[in-house]
Amino acid sequence: MHLVTFQKGRGQRIGAVWHGAILDLRGIETELALQRGERRVRFPSTMLELIQGGPECWATVRRVFDYGRSLVDAQDLQVLTRRGVAYPEKKGRLLAPIPRPARNIFCMGRNYAEHAAERGAQVPDRPVFFTKPPTTVIAPGADIVHHLATAELDYEAELAVVIGRGGRDIPRAQALSHVFGYMNLNDVTARDLQRAHQQWFKGKSLDTFCPIGPALVTADEIPDPQRLSIQLRVNGKVRQSASTSQMIFDVATLIEVLSLGMTLEPGDILATGTPSGVGAATGEFLKPGDLVEVEVEGLGCLVNQVAAPE
Ligand code: MN
Repeated sequence: MHLVTFQKGRGQRIGAVWHGAILDLRGIETELALQRGERRVRFPSTMLELIQGGPECWATVRRVFDYGRSLVDAQDLQVLTRRGVAYPEKKGRLLAPIPRPARNIFCMGRNYAEHAAERGAQVPDRPVFFTKPPTTVIAPGADIVHHLATAELDYEAELAVVIGRGGRDIPRAQALSHVFGYMNLNDVTARDLQRAHQQWFKGKSLDTFCPIGPALVTADEIPDPQRLSIQLRVNGKVRQSASTSQMIFDVATLIEVLSLGMTLEPGDILATGTPSGVGAATGEFLKPGDLVEVEVEGLGCLVNQVAAPE
C-alpha cells in the first residue's frame, strides 16, 4: 500500500493511492461497515495512530484498502468522490505521510563510502548517528525555505525507514520484521552551519529541512531495501544516482545498532544516509526557485521547490 496523509477540509485524513485515486480509508471503512451491518471498529485517524495500532489495526486497514481498490476499479471515480470514499490523485493535497513525528528523526551520517570520501571523511567503523527535530518535516510539494542563516543550502537524497513494531536490542536477523514501511526523505542541510557548530544538529534542523513522502510504502512492497536505485535531481539535472546496495551499514544493521539499549517506537523514522553528489562536493548549492526531486525506486517521487524566506 502507498499510504498517504491528505488534507480534507480543515482536517487531515489517512488514505491510500490506487490507480490514480486517493482512497479515503475512513470513508471506505464507514461504507463497508454499513454494508455488512457490522459494528464500527475504532479506526485510526492519523498515520501515527495507524502505525501504533499494531498488527490487528494494520489488518483492518488492509481489508478496507482491498475493498476500496475494488470500488475504484469497478466504478466511476466521480461517483465515488460524491460518496466521500475516493478522490482524483491530482486534486488531492498531500501532507507529509507522518506530518508530525512523535520524536526526532534518527539519521545516519556517512553511510555511503563515496559520499564520505567527497566530504573528506573516513569510512566509519560504527554508524554515525544524529537527529533532526519533528519541526523540520514538510509535505511533498511544500517549499524548502532558504533561510537567511545559511549561504550553503544543500540536499541529500535518502531512503527513510519507518518502524512498525518497536523494541530494544533487536537482533539483525529480526530487524526487517520491525519495519512498517519506507519513504523518500531529503535531509536538507545548511553546510556552513554544519561546519561552524561542529556537531551536525544545528545545520540539519532548520524549519522545512526534512521533506518526506509522497507516500509511506508498506514493507511488503519492498522485500529487499538494499536493492533500490536512489536518485536526486535539481531542475531536472541528475545530481545523485546510486543504489542502496552501496550503504556501508544496511538497514537491518542500523536497526540492530540503534536499538542497542535504546527502545525504538512505532512510528520512529530512520534516515539511512545519502550517496555521493551533494552540492558541497561541487560548490553548487541550492537557490530560491530550484526544483528538487528525490526518487528511491518503488517509493514515488518527492518534489519540493526552494523558496526565499517570507
Ligand atoms: Mn543525511
